[in-house]
Amino acid sequence: MALSGIQIYKLLPQTNCKDCDFPTCLAFAMKLAAKQVELSLCPHVSDEAMEQLSEAAAPPVRPFVISSNGNEVKAGNEVVMFRHEKTYYSHPGLFLRVYDNESPEEIKAKVSPVDAYKVDYVGIDLEMSGFVIQANGGDASTGSAQRFAGAVKAVREASHRPVILIGEPDTLKAGLAALNEGEKPMIGQATVDNWQVMANLAIEYNAALTVKADTIDEMTDLTGKLTEAGVNDLVLSPSQRGFRGTLTANTVARRLAIKSNFRPLGYPIISFPGDVGDPATEVILAAQAIGKYSGFIVLDHFSPETVYPLLVLRENIYTDPQKPIQVQPGVYEINNPTPESPVLITTNFSITYFSVANEVESAGLPAWLLVTESEGMSVLTAWAAGKFDAERIAKDVKRFEVGDKVSAKNIVLPGHTAVLSGELEEELPDWNVLVGPREAVDLPAYMKQAV
Ligand code: SF4
Repeated sequence: MALSGIQIYKLLPQTNCKDCDFPTCLAFAMKLAAKQVELSLCPHVSDEAMEQLSEAAAPPVRPFVISSNGNEVKAGNEVVMFRHEKTYYSHPGLFLRVYDNESPEEIKAKVSPVDAYKVDYVGIDLEMSGFVIQANGGDASTGSAQRFAGAVKAVREASHRPVILIGEPDTLKAGLAALNEGEKPMIGQATVDNWQVMANLAIEYNAALTVKADTIDEMTDLTGKLTEAGVNDLVLSPSQRGFRGTLTANTVARRLAIKSNFRPLGYPIISFPGDVGDPATEVILAAQAIGKYSGFIVLDHFSPETVYPLLVLRENIYTDPQKPIQVQPGVYEINNPTPESPVLITTNFSITYFSVANEVESAGLPAWLLVTESEGMSVLTAWAAGKFDAERIAKDVKRFEVGDKVSAKNIVLPGHTAVLSGELEEELPDWNVLVGPREAVDLPAYMKQAV
């Protein structure tokens, strides 16, 4: 059970030494109870107290990674039900599922384009996370185990991304043996009938383990047995499918974990939108799973036009709302600019930068784009906050030696900040200060006419 701030305080040394950077032990205890700091910040906790406190300090959703060859998928570590309460931490992994009754060539042909898929989105690489290899109804005979191992090898020949293996225990054993040394995979699924043997496999191969159950009570019972058996990296796999079933199962489990600190359900969740069969419904279910608590999402179909919006949605939800996405301040070249090309100015808020850069780039117009240090704010916000003014712009013009790159010395202010033009002329007397349009979309027409 979670400890209150006062209960935690009683276990701390109560010396108020401030080594944790808090003024008192009580202040630190309150933060620890709210799960906003790590226990390790206090170096003076006794071993006995540490044992009791580590329970209180542990995040309500157990964090762990699955990995392969330097690629990691992090899961868990969430502390809030809704992102606006703080932030979400572990981006849900998107996995493509292949089956062992597909030939190795078919599997490689499916896996290779998914492995290679990478899109630059406001400076972030959007990629798929890994692959699920599932035994397709085979029994545990030697033949089926060999086929499963062949499927695992085929995936490994085409990708080094993390994998989730799903099948009967004997089949899984063959698949696990076919993985590379040092991998941390996930296996599934432990049920009321097989949990003991699945626990043994997970321990032997250092694998995370999915736990499949029809009800919350059954899930609670199973996770309890598995942790007692020594498996800690568990993943809840509710058997419910469809919009309502998945939403209800995921929300109930996460609510109990976070609001009641109910440890038996304090694990990441896996969802299988691919089970519905219909690609359109699969995408919508996956979107729901991203928004509502799934840490691992298994798809049966891959196409850039459906995966891209899912990855963008994921990025939007799993971004700290208190930290704007920023690009590095500096001078960016667009379409091979020459010394005659104009210098456009904008702020280092990613979306502002990409709006301007994309408009100019797609119009084929050469320009220098000066991105100023404005703490990740958009133009108007930065101007209103005093982070985008003539003095700062002039400072960055000098800092990035923009004058050495151009001879024409035409510098274009965003139209919303036309009021800065007089001051900027004073700050940059050698420059011809121009006022551009208010919206990035109007830049190409403006540039063709004015610079
Ligand atoms: S470091 Fe520990 S003992 Fe010192 S003030 Fe912080 S909580 Fe108290």
